[in-house]
Amino acid sequence: MSTRRAFLAGAAAVAASPLLSRLSWAQGSAAAATFDPWIEVDRAALAHNAAALARMSGRPIIAVVKNNAYGLGLDTAGPLMDAIDAVRMLAVVRPDEAMALRRAGVTKPVLLMGPATEDELLELVPRDVIQSPYRDAAPALLSRVASRLGRPVRVHLYVDTGMHRMGMPASEVADWAAALSRSGGVRIEGAFTELVEDAGVDERQAGTLQDLAAGLRAAGVAIEEALLHAASSDAVLHRRTATFLDAVRPGLALYGGYVSEQTREQGGLRPAYRLKARVIRVDRLAAGEGVSYHRRWRADRPTTTATLGVGHVDGYPGGAVKGGEVLLRGRPYPVIGTVSASHTIIAVGDDPVQVGDEVTLVGPDHAAIHPNEVAKRAGYSEYDMFMHLSPGLRRIVV
Ligand SMILES: *Cc1c(COP(=O)(O)O)cnc(C)c1O
Repeated sequence: MSTRRAFLAGAAAVAASPLLSRLSWAQGSAAAATFDPWIEVDRAALAHNAAALARMSGRPIIAVVKNNAYGLGLDTAGPLMDAIDAVRMLAVVRPDEAMALRRAGVTKPVLLMGPATEDELLELVPRDVIQSPYRDAAPALLSRVASRLGRPVRVHLYVDTGMHRMGMPASEVADWAAALSRSGGVRIEGAFTELVEDAGVDERQAGTLQDLAAGLRAAGVAIEEALLHAASSDAVLHRRTATFLDAVRPGLALYGGYVSEQTREQGGLRPAYRLKARVIRVDRLAAGEGVSYHRRWRADRPTTTATLGVGHVDGYPGGAVKGGEVLLRGRPYPVIGTVSASHTIIAVGDDPVQVGDEVTLVGPDHAAIHPNEVAKRAGYSEYDMFMHLSPGLRRIVV
């Protein structure tokens, strides 16, 4: 009896402890009781961006979710994309990603924009993953897979119209596509290309793809759904309308990133993630004291600093010390010293800060922490602001 009473008293004391009540663990719901950093994935922002891009282009969207859904997490962002009306299809570059989408319950068509071995094809085709053949070997390989499985292999022809990175060179497509369509078991449903992202050139590339498709049809090569696509975020945001074809195929812009400063001025997209962490230590520096390795930053007056439990292994750029800021209690504060693997230090002057305080390092909530702005200040790629988010961080959908 007394033991039980002591336990209850102890529990009440813990609940009332100044430290725990200060830690706003309950805040942001699923933000569990831990000092580890996490990523919030913003469902409404993804839907908003997809709708905005569909409006800009007047086309359905093939949502590129490669590279762990641009860092947001394939298991998290895949199903969210699947549920968006404007999204007609999802696209990845690796077989594992296509399989992960199906495991996560994605039901819309999935396009694999990369190679698959015969063993992988035997797994992918039954899960209705559309292939992107681009090699001479494709007709023999795909028809063999179709006959082993007893079902057709759906494909979009991957055509190189000048990027010289992937795809069958445009000049060689006619004979090759005819062989594919004759080979049995291969169902050509579309064709696509990658744009070099230069005005003038992009439009010519899209024209080449259209001419090729028309030529194939004239030669009796059936393209069942005739879905032609080329435009990535760059072409959509630059309104290169001649490249929009039957569908657009953005990645970065869906997640709220802009491909350049120029496109950013048009506004309208919302960063679809927040990188969040907690204050794990607070310090008070006298004037002249230095911070981190080689004391790279020095206090010119008495200053409070806070150490955040997040660093460059989590995907926060090391260059953020060159003018980057983070959001604490609604205000931006400068990153100082060094961003190390698991630690980032900020200076808050004489403002209040406590262990357990929640900090947003990247997100839509303030101009200073917009991913494009952090990238600019840190001298980092805007793509890497997304794609380098550590796959190990917890993802929470908000
Ligand atoms: C990555 C990729 C895209 C999307 O590019 P963004 O610049 O992120 O819009 C489109 N198509 C292919 C083939 C890609 O590899």
